[in-house]
Amino acid sequence: MDKIRLFDKTFKPFLSYEEIAEAIDNVAEKINADFEGKGEVPILLCVLNGSVMFCGELMKRMRFDAELKSIKLSSYSGTQSTGKVREMMGLTGSIEGRTVIVIEDIVDTGNTIVQLKKSLEDKGAKCVKICTMLLKPEVYDKDVRLDYVAKEIPNAFIVGFGLDYDELGRNYKDIYVIDNE
Ligand code: 5GP
Repeated sequence: MDKIRLFDKTFKPFLSYEEIAEAIDNVAEKINADFEGKGEVPILLCVLNGSVMFCGELMKRMRFDAELKSIKLSSYSGTQSTGKVREMMGLTGSIEGRTVIVIEDIVDTGNTIVQLKKSLEDKGAKCVKICTMLLKPEVYDKDVRLDYVAKEIPNAFIVGFGLDYDELGRNYKDIYVIDNE
């Protein structure tokens, strides 16, 4: 894996596709253990755009029926969280009385999932589970329980595997971290 350049910044290899896939295998098994054979059909809520690749990989590993819905949120500008979560595309259809599994690419400050969980509960969800591919535990300081975490990472800005820097970099199958050298 070589370094990549997006706009003014250079990123160096951080997690290979194989490492990501193994982490997804493990988290998918935990979700299967909770839902397989239970008869309930949960809603998978893909938080666009960053979660597209993770959500696809996760779905391939799921051994129970689920419905897919998407929502588009935005809180980052460049490499920084703005603290304000904007809804760019809302939810269609009812989630009343349903179990919703939120599929996030990464939890950083947690502002996004705190706001999203409350909004889903306000819309009548019976139960909201949070599944994230990545977590920055050094930054996350909220009380919302993260039910399924594929991998913990240090506090640094990353791109690839769906994650972007000003909309570029989502297509890389490996994950890269900002190179400050
Ligand atoms: P939070 O609201 O938890 O601070 O941030 C969550 C959202 O910020 C993620 O869904 C993602 O879109 C974005 N984000 C947080 N950390 C990173 C990062 O290291 N790289 C990229 N590309 N996006 C990030």
